[in-house]
Amino acid sequence: MGMELVCPAGSLTAVKVAIDAGADAIYVGLRDDTNARRFAGLNLDARELEQAVTLAHARRRRLFLAVNTYVRAGAGDRWERAVELAARLGVDALIVADIGLLAHASRNFPELPLHLSVQGSATNPQALAFYHERYGIRRAVLPRVLSLAQVAQVAQDSPVPVEVFGFGSLCIMAEGRCHLSSYLTGESPNLGGACSPASAVRWERDGDVLSSRLNDVLIDRFAPDEHAGYPTLCKGRFMVEGRRLHAIEEPASLNTIDLIPKLAQIGVEAVKIEGRQRSPAYVEKVTRVWREALDAFAATGGDFDVRPHWSRTLAGLSEGSQTTLGAYHRPWQ
Ligand code: SF4
Repeated sequence: MGMELVCPAGSLTAVKVAIDAGADAIYVGLRDDTNARRFAGLNLDARELEQAVTLAHARRRRLFLAVNTYVRAGAGDRWERAVELAARLGVDALIVADIGLLAHASRNFPELPLHLSVQGSATNPQALAFYHERYGIRRAVLPRVLSLAQVAQVAQDSPVPVEVFGFGSLCIMAEGRCHLSSYLTGESPNLGGACSPASAVRWERDGDVLSSRLNDVLIDRFAPDEHAGYPTLCKGRFMVEGRRLHAIEEPASLNTIDLIPKLAQIGVEAVKIEGRQRSPAYVEKVTRVWREALDAFAATGGDFDVRPHWSRTLAGLSEGSQTTLGAYHRPWQ
Protein backbone atom coordinates (compact mmCIF):
# COMPACT_ATOMS: atom_id res chain seq x y z
CA MET A 1 0.00 0.00 0.00
CA GLY A 2 1.19 3.52 -0.82
CA MET A 3 1.48 6.44 1.54
CA GLU A 4 -1.78 7.44 3.16
CA LEU A 5 -3.06 10.90 2.14
CA VAL A 6 -4.35 12.71 5.25
CA CYS A 7 -6.40 15.82 4.45
CA PRO A 8 -7.81 18.65 6.56
CA ALA A 9 -11.45 19.58 7.05
CA GLY A 10 -12.88 22.49 9.03
CA SER A 11 -16.51 21.67 8.21
CA LEU A 12 -18.75 18.82 7.17
CA THR A 13 -18.72 20.19 3.62
CA ALA A 14 -14.93 20.02 3.60
CA VAL A 15 -15.09 16.41 4.85
CA LYS A 16 -17.32 15.47 1.89
CA VAL A 17 -15.14 17.36 -0.55
CA ALA A 18 -11.96 15.74 0.75
CA ILE A 19 -13.54 12.28 0.43
CA ASP A 20 -14.67 12.98 -3.15
CA ALA A 21 -11.25 14.36 -4.07
CA GLY A 22 -9.48 11.20 -2.91
CA ALA A 23 -8.31 11.65 0.69
CA ASP A 24 -7.51 8.35 2.41
CA ALA A 25 -8.05 9.93 5.81
CA ILE A 26 -9.57 13.22 6.95
CA TYR A 27 -8.71 15.01 10.17
CA VAL A 28 -11.09 17.37 11.94
CA GLY A 29 -11.42 19.17 15.26
CA LEU A 30 -14.19 20.10 17.66
CA ARG A 31 -15.63 23.60 17.96
CA ASP A 32 -13.78 24.50 21.17
CA ASP A 33 -10.34 25.07 22.63
CA THR A 34 -9.35 21.39 22.49
CA ASN A 35 -8.51 22.10 18.85
CA ALA A 36 -5.46 24.02 17.61
CA ARG A 37 -7.44 25.44 14.68
CA ARG A 38 -10.27 27.13 16.53
CA PHE A 39 -11.52 29.86 14.23
CA ALA A 40 -14.97 31.43 14.17
CA GLY A 41 -17.48 29.48 12.10
CA LEU A 42 -15.25 26.44 11.70
CA ASN A 43 -15.04 22.90 13.06
CA LEU A 44 -17.57 20.29 14.09
CA ASP A 45 -19.93 19.74 16.99
CA ALA A 46 -20.61 16.24 18.35
CA ARG A 47 -23.47 15.56 15.95
CA GLU A 48 -21.44 16.68 12.93
CA LEU A 49 -18.51 14.58 14.09
CA GLU A 50 -20.78 11.55 14.14
CA GLN A 51 -21.94 12.39 10.59
CA ALA A 52 -18.33 12.81 9.48
CA VAL A 53 -17.40 9.37 10.83
CA THR A 54 -20.41 7.84 9.06
CA LEU A 55 -19.58 9.59 5.78
CA ALA A 56 -15.94 8.53 5.88
CA HIS A 57 -16.64 4.93 6.81
CA ALA A 58 -19.31 4.60 4.12
CA ARG A 59 -16.58 5.38 1.56
CA ARG A 60 -13.95 3.26 3.34
CA ARG A 61 -11.92 6.27 4.45
CA ARG A 62 -10.60 7.01 7.90
CA LEU A 63 -11.62 9.89 10.15
CA PHE A 64 -9.18 11.32 12.71
CA LEU A 65 -9.99 13.78 15.49
CA ALA A 66 -7.35 16.32 16.53
CA VAL A 67 -7.51 17.09 20.24
CA ASN A 68 -4.17 18.75 20.00
CA THR A 69 -4.00 21.79 22.25
CA TYR A 70 -2.43 21.65 25.70
CA VAL A 71 -4.86 20.94 28.51
CA ARG A 72 -5.60 23.99 30.64
CA ALA A 73 -5.07 23.45 34.35
CA GLY A 74 -8.46 23.26 36.03
CA ALA A 75 -10.38 22.79 32.75
CA GLY A 76 -9.33 19.24 31.87
CA ASP A 77 -12.94 18.00 31.69
CA ARG A 78 -13.36 19.45 28.21
CA TRP A 79 -10.37 17.54 26.86
CA GLU A 80 -11.44 14.33 28.58
CA ARG A 81 -14.96 14.65 27.15
CA ALA A 82 -13.48 15.06 23.67
CA VAL A 83 -11.53 11.81 24.11
CA GLU A 84 -14.61 9.99 25.33
CA LEU A 85 -16.64 11.29 22.39
CA ALA A 86 -13.99 10.09 19.93
CA ALA A 87 -13.99 6.63 21.50
CA ARG A 88 -17.80 6.44 21.54
CA LEU A 89 -18.16 7.51 17.89
CA GLY A 90 -15.45 5.16 16.67
CA VAL A 91 -13.05 7.69 15.16
CA ASP A 92 -10.08 5.92 13.61
CA ALA A 93 -7.42 7.85 15.52
CA LEU A 94 -7.12 10.59 18.06
CA ILE A 95 -4.33 13.11 17.37
CA VAL A 96 -2.96 14.26 20.74
CA ALA A 97 -0.04 16.39 21.94
CA ASP A 98 -0.53 16.73 25.70
CA ILE A 99 1.27 14.03 27.67
CA GLY A 100 -1.39 14.00 30.42
CA LEU A 101 -4.14 13.53 27.86
CA LEU A 102 -2.20 10.71 26.18
CA ALA A 103 -1.99 9.02 29.59
CA HIS A 104 -5.72 9.52 30.18
CA ALA A 105 -6.73 8.22 26.74
CA SER A 106 -4.46 5.18 26.82
CA ARG A 107 -5.58 4.23 30.34
CA ASN A 108 -9.33 4.67 29.80
CA PHE A 109 -9.78 3.89 26.11
CA PRO A 110 -7.06 1.41 25.16
CA GLU A 111 -8.90 0.49 21.92
CA LEU A 112 -8.77 4.08 20.63
CA PRO A 113 -5.71 4.44 18.34
CA LEU A 114 -3.48 7.38 19.33
CA HIS A 115 -1.35 9.45 16.97
CA LEU A 116 1.22 11.79 18.48
CA SER A 117 0.45 15.27 17.14
CA VAL A 118 3.05 17.41 15.40
CA GLN A 119 2.51 19.68 18.41
CA GLY A 120 4.09 16.97 20.57
CA SER A 121 7.39 17.99 18.94
CA ALA A 122 9.07 14.57 19.13
CA THR A 123 12.22 14.90 17.05
CA ASN A 124 14.07 11.64 17.74
CA PRO A 125 13.38 7.88 17.91
CA GLN A 126 14.01 7.74 21.66
CA ALA A 127 11.19 10.21 22.29
CA LEU A 128 8.91 8.17 20.04
CA ALA A 129 9.87 4.97 21.86
CA PHE A 130 8.86 6.60 25.13
CA TYR A 131 5.44 7.64 23.77
CA HIS A 132 4.99 4.19 22.27
CA GLU A 133 5.95 2.21 25.38
CA ARG A 134 4.07 4.44 27.79
CA TYR A 135 0.97 5.35 25.83
CA GLY A 136 0.86 2.88 22.95
CA ILE A 137 0.87 5.52 20.18
CA ARG A 138 0.45 3.92 16.77
CA ARG A 139 1.80 6.78 14.65
CA ALA A 140 3.73 10.03 15.10
CA VAL A 141 3.39 13.21 13.06
CA LEU A 142 6.90 14.60 12.77
CA PRO A 143 7.65 18.29 13.40
CA ARG A 144 8.29 20.47 10.35
CA VAL A 145 11.64 21.48 11.75
CA LEU A 146 13.41 18.28 10.67
CA SER A 147 15.57 18.01 7.54
CA LEU A 148 14.92 15.16 5.14
CA ALA A 149 18.00 13.33 6.43
CA GLN A 150 16.68 13.67 9.98
CA VAL A 151 13.25 12.40 8.94
CA ALA A 152 15.00 9.35 7.45
CA GLN A 153 16.96 8.72 10.64
CA VAL A 154 13.89 9.05 12.84
CA ALA A 155 11.79 6.82 10.56
CA GLN A 156 14.48 4.15 10.45
CA ASP A 157 14.70 3.72 14.22
CA SER A 158 11.18 4.68 15.24
CA PRO A 159 9.06 1.95 16.85
CA VAL A 160 5.98 3.49 15.18
CA PRO A 161 5.27 4.60 11.61
CA VAL A 162 5.69 8.30 10.88
CA GLU A 163 3.54 10.89 9.14
CA VAL A 164 5.03 14.06 7.64
CA PHE A 165 3.61 17.30 6.34
CA GLY A 166 3.45 17.51 2.56
CA PHE A 167 1.81 20.83 1.88
CA GLY A 168 0.56 23.94 3.65
CA SER A 169 1.44 26.86 5.86
CA LEU A 170 4.55 26.74 7.98
CA CYS A 171 5.06 27.51 11.62
CA ILE A 172 8.64 27.90 12.76
CA MET A 173 8.44 27.52 16.50
CA ALA A 174 9.42 24.30 18.21
CA GLU A 175 6.02 22.81 17.51
CA GLY A 176 3.60 23.51 20.30
CA ARG A 177 5.44 26.30 22.00
CA CYS A 178 4.70 29.58 20.22
CA HIS A 179 4.05 32.66 22.30
CA LEU A 180 4.30 35.25 19.52
CA SER A 181 0.57 35.34 18.89
CA SER A 182 -0.41 35.48 22.56
CA TYR A 183 2.08 38.33 23.06
CA LEU A 184 0.10 40.52 20.65
CA THR A 185 -3.43 39.19 20.85
CA GLY A 186 -3.78 37.32 24.14
CA GLU A 187 -4.69 34.19 22.16
CA SER A 188 -2.31 31.30 21.90
CA PRO A 189 -2.44 28.60 19.25
CA ASN A 190 -1.38 25.95 21.72
CA LEU A 191 -3.83 26.80 24.47
CA GLY A 192 -6.83 28.42 22.84
CA GLY A 193 -6.44 27.20 19.29
CA ALA A 194 -5.95 30.49 17.44
CA CYS A 195 -2.85 32.09 15.97
CA SER A 196 -3.68 35.68 14.92
CA PRO A 197 -7.44 35.61 15.64
CA ALA A 198 -9.44 37.61 13.11
CA SER A 199 -10.74 39.94 15.85
CA ALA A 200 -7.17 41.26 16.30
CA VAL A 201 -6.47 41.82 12.61
CA ARG A 202 -6.59 45.39 11.25
CA TRP A 203 -6.11 46.51 7.66
CA GLU A 204 -5.33 50.16 6.88
CA ARG A 205 -4.96 51.84 3.52
CA ASP A 206 -2.84 54.93 3.12
CA GLY A 207 -2.77 55.97 -0.55
CA ASP A 208 -1.39 52.99 -2.43
CA VAL A 209 0.03 51.29 0.63
CA LEU A 210 -1.90 48.64 2.54
CA SER A 211 -0.81 47.95 6.13
CA SER A 212 -1.66 44.96 8.27
CA ARG A 213 -1.67 45.12 12.06
CA LEU A 214 -2.34 42.74 14.91
CA ASN A 215 -4.06 44.99 17.40
CA ASP A 216 -1.90 48.10 17.15
CA VAL A 217 1.35 46.46 16.10
CA LEU A 218 2.40 46.90 12.49
CA ILE A 219 3.09 43.51 10.89
CA ASP A 220 3.63 44.45 7.25
CA ARG A 221 3.15 47.09 4.53
CA PHE A 222 2.29 46.07 0.98
CA ALA A 223 2.86 47.95 -2.26
CA PRO A 224 0.03 47.69 -4.85
CA ASP A 225 1.82 44.88 -6.77
CA GLU A 226 2.46 42.76 -3.66
CA HIS A 227 0.35 39.89 -2.35
CA ALA A 228 -1.03 40.97 1.03
CA GLY A 229 -0.94 37.90 3.26
CA TYR A 230 -2.91 37.31 6.44
CA PRO A 231 -0.85 38.81 9.27
CA THR A 232 0.97 36.48 11.65
CA LEU A 233 3.78 37.91 13.74
CA CYS A 234 6.34 35.33 12.59
CA LYS A 235 5.78 36.27 8.93
CA GLY A 236 5.87 40.05 9.31
CA ARG A 237 8.53 42.33 7.81
CA PHE A 238 10.67 44.15 10.32
CA MET A 239 13.63 46.52 10.29
CA VAL A 240 16.78 44.60 11.15
CA GLU A 241 20.14 46.37 10.94
CA GLY A 242 18.67 49.00 8.64
CA ARG A 243 16.98 46.52 6.28
CA ARG A 244 13.27 45.69 6.09
CA LEU A 245 12.88 41.94 5.77
CA HIS A 246 11.05 38.78 6.78
CA ALA A 247 13.30 38.44 9.79
CA ILE A 248 11.74 35.29 11.27
CA GLU A 249 9.94 33.32 8.54
CA GLU A 250 8.99 33.80 4.88
CA PRO A 251 5.29 33.78 4.03
CA ALA A 252 5.54 30.73 1.77
CA SER A 253 3.86 27.31 1.86
CA LEU A 254 5.64 24.03 2.32
CA ASN A 255 5.38 21.93 -0.83
CA THR A 256 7.12 18.55 -0.93
CA ILE A 257 5.39 17.05 -3.93
CA ASP A 258 8.70 16.43 -5.70
CA LEU A 259 9.95 14.56 -2.62
CA ILE A 260 7.27 11.85 -2.92
CA PRO A 261 9.72 9.14 -4.13
CA LYS A 262 12.16 10.00 -1.36
CA LEU A 263 9.48 10.01 1.35
CA ALA A 264 8.23 6.62 0.13
CA GLN A 265 11.76 5.23 0.11
CA ILE A 266 12.33 6.44 3.67
CA GLY A 267 9.24 4.47 4.69
CA VAL A 268 6.98 7.40 5.59
CA GLU A 269 3.51 5.94 6.21
CA ALA A 270 1.38 9.03 5.62
CA VAL A 271 1.54 12.53 4.15
CA LYS A 272 -0.50 15.26 5.77
CA ILE A 273 -1.96 18.37 4.17
CA GLU A 274 -2.16 21.39 6.49
CA GLY A 275 -5.20 23.70 6.49
CA ARG A 276 -8.27 22.92 8.55
CA GLN A 277 -8.86 26.69 8.58
CA ARG A 278 -9.00 26.82 4.76
CA SER A 279 -12.07 26.67 2.52
CA PRO A 280 -13.59 23.47 1.06
CA ALA A 281 -12.44 24.72 -2.38
CA TYR A 282 -8.83 24.80 -1.16
CA VAL A 283 -9.14 21.33 0.38
CA GLU A 284 -10.62 20.02 -2.86
CA LYS A 285 -7.85 21.39 -5.10
CA VAL A 286 -4.92 20.38 -2.90
CA THR A 287 -6.37 16.91 -2.27
CA ARG A 288 -6.93 16.28 -5.99
CA VAL A 289 -3.36 17.25 -6.87
CA TRP A 290 -1.84 15.07 -4.16
CA ARG A 291 -4.16 12.14 -4.99
CA GLU A 292 -3.09 12.32 -8.63
CA ALA A 293 0.57 12.61 -7.70
CA LEU A 294 0.54 9.68 -5.25
CA ASP A 295 -1.38 7.53 -7.74
CA ALA A 296 1.02 8.46 -10.53
CA PHE A 297 3.96 7.50 -8.35
CA ALA A 298 2.33 4.18 -7.40
CA ALA A 299 1.48 3.41 -11.03
CA THR A 300 4.98 3.98 -12.37
CA GLY A 301 6.69 2.10 -9.58
CA GLY A 302 9.11 4.86 -8.83
CA ASP A 303 9.65 6.72 -12.10
CA PHE A 304 8.09 10.02 -11.18
CA ASP A 305 7.97 13.49 -12.68
CA VAL A 306 6.09 16.38 -11.16
CA ARG A 307 3.49 17.49 -13.70
CA PRO A 308 3.43 21.24 -14.41
CA HIS A 309 -0.28 21.60 -13.63
CA TRP A 310 0.29 20.19 -10.12
CA SER A 311 2.93 22.82 -9.42
CA ARG A 312 0.79 25.58 -10.93
CA THR A 313 -2.23 24.65 -8.84
CA LEU A 314 -0.27 24.37 -5.61
CA ALA A 315 1.64 27.62 -6.22
CA GLY A 316 -1.69 29.39 -6.74
CA LEU A 317 -2.91 28.13 -3.36
CA SER A 318 0.27 28.92 -1.45
CA GLU A 319 0.86 31.61 1.11
CA GLY A 320 2.42 34.57 -0.69
CA SER A 321 2.01 32.50 -3.91
CA GLN A 322 5.38 30.92 -3.12
CA THR A 323 6.38 27.42 -2.09
CA THR A 324 9.37 26.11 -0.18
CA LEU A 325 10.88 22.81 0.89
CA GLY A 326 11.19 24.34 4.36
CA ALA A 327 13.40 22.51 6.82
CA TYR A 328 13.50 19.41 4.59
CA HIS A 329 16.28 21.09 2.62
CA ARG A 330 17.56 23.75 5.02
CA PRO A 331 21.31 23.82 4.40
CA TRP A 332 22.34 25.25 7.78
CA GLN A 333 20.58 22.67 9.89
S1 SF4 B 1 2.91 33.11 15.16
FE1 SF4 B 1 3.89 31.90 13.53
S2 SF4 B 1 5.21 30.44 14.62
FE2 SF4 B 1 3.66 31.20 16.09
S3 SF4 B 1 1.95 29.73 15.98
FE3 SF4 B 1 1.50 31.43 14.59
S4 SF4 B 1 2.29 30.67 12.60
FE4 SF4 B 1 3.26 29.42 14.21
